Amino acid sequence: MQDFEFLQPKSLAELSDLLAGSDTRLVAGGTDVIPKMRHNLFAASTLIDLSRVDDLNFIQEDEGEVKIGACVTHQQIAESELLALVNPSLVAASASVGCVQTRNRGTLGGNIANASPAADAVPPLFVYSAQVHLRDKDAQRAVPITEFFTGPGSTMLGSGEYIHHISFPRLKGAWGSAFQKMGKRSGMAIAVVSAAAAVVLDESGAVKDARIALGSVAPTVVRCLLAESILVNQEPTPELVKKAADACITDISTISDVRSTAEYRQHAAAVLAGRAIQQAVYQARMRLA
Ligand SMILES: Cc1cc2nc3c(=O)[nH]c(=O)nc-3n(C[C@H](O)[C@H](O)[C@H](O)COP(=O)(O)OP(=O)(O)OC[C@H]3O[C@@H](n4cnc5c(N)ncnc54)[C@H](O)[C@@H]3O)c2cc1C
Repeated sequence: MQDFEFLQPKSLAELSDLLAGSDTRLVAGGTDVIPKMRHNLFAASTLIDLSRVDDLNFIQEDEGEVKIGACVTHQQIAESELLALVNPSLVAASASVGCVQTRNRGTLGGNIANASPAADAVPPLFVYSAQVHLRDKDAQRAVPITEFFTGPGSTMLGSGEYIHHISFPRLKGAWGSAFQKMGKRSGMAIAVVSAAAAVVLDESGAVKDARIALGSVAPTVVRCLLAESILVNQEPTPELVKKAADACITDISTISDVRSTAEYRQHAAAVLAGRAIQQAVYQARMRLA
């Protein structure tokens, strides 16, 4: 591991000033950064620790818009009463990350910025059409999460920019959302495949809006637009849900890697997408009743 300077700003202003320096990189919980540093896969002459910046640690709702600070940990998300009410798919995804030690350190901002296609929190944010709010010394901008990833490990984050928070609108009416994950074992496992679904039903019980996303099957998390279009304006019968779930993999050239072959991923993705849609439909029907 190479030597580096370690800085701990306590305010956003201090953070922005430090980030304007050259060869700086960020660390939040360190659960991706530290293993990478040990294998010489992450280097910087200055490492800036975000964990003391209190203004990056909040979960709040503002006029139907839910906002989560970048330094909120997976454990905070898993235990949040507000998020359990508004985004059960994200709560389930964060609760499935690693072990309790990993969840106590690992943050939502780190999960997103690390840009792994297996990042568990990302599919639930895709199906809520979340925005990633970025800041630097002089400006701020919001990027739809569906456009934030440019490849494995690569994002639209510019030099000197950091993730400030993530936002998404509360779903309205008879809605449901769910997350499913399959790893090589049931605990402490990076996803071989993950799936998230969000569904809104109209008064007749037909699908008004459907969003489905798959993780760990392609270079980035992907939305399944064809599958969504199969569900919309139809009654979500088990046959229709299966048809939509099978369609999820049509447009994706699934990846082979150390965790799985492409063929296995294709099969597992359809199964998990089907389960996530069914679960979301079930919740939505409960709200309709
Ligand atoms: C044992 C173990 C098990 C794990 N299991 C899972 C799992 O099941 N599912 C899963 O998804 N992940 C898993 N991970 C990966 C990791 O825990 C998560 O990705 C976590 O959310 C990363 O957050 P962090 O705060 O630790 O990120 P860090 O390691 O601190 O940072 C990760 C990257 O994000 C950048 N970064 C951090 N915060 C910001 C910010 N606010 N703005 C811009 N850039 C930022 C850093 O510069 C770095 O490039 C596991 C890791 C370990 C060690």
